[in-house]
Amino acid sequence: SAIPVLVSRCLLGFACRYDGKAKPSILPLLGEIPEVNWIPVCPEVEGGLPLPRTPCELEPGATAADVLAGKGRVCTKEGRDCTREYCLGAQLALQSAETNGAKFALLKAKSPSCGTRSIYDGTFSRTLIPGRGITAELLAGAGIALFSEDELESFSRTVARALPESD
Ligand code: SF4
Repeated sequence: SAIPVLVSRCLLGFACRYDGKAKPSILPLLGEIPEVNWIPVCPEVEGGLPLPRTPCELEPGATAADVLAGKGRVCTKEGRDCTREYCLGAQLALQSAETNGAKFALLKAKSPSCGTRSIYDGTFSRTLIPGRGITAELLAGAGIALFSEDELESFSRTVARALPESD
């Protein structure tokens, strides 16, 4: 049976990115993988942000864990607070994962929602720092294994190994 995998919706070629534009789907890059039941989520849109939207970053010094604990904010460059939408989108994504039994997530890199290893530092100068986006943090805390779009090989290997257990 197919393995349920949560996936950042923009990675499948949907135009949900902040600029309202689509990028090519990553699916052709995956090669031979077992049957996957993709569960696409876009936490920013599902959390209530418009399309297109003004990009946000986590405030300087705030981690995703801080934000989820109510101790930090996610804002636009002009200081508009979008924390509520980011946290709601993360909760909805986790809900989708749990409803569908997804233990894996394949996520867009560097996003303040979906980034798994690095995010922008809150100064809007395109400076990356180690850290997770809000949704990635919530999913990781729930024990979901996170893969970034730049880890497709290890994602494919891990999903292939999980196949026998999924029956
Ligand atoms: Fe939506 Fe995540 Fe893609 Fe941003 S990175 S457009 S929040 S799915």
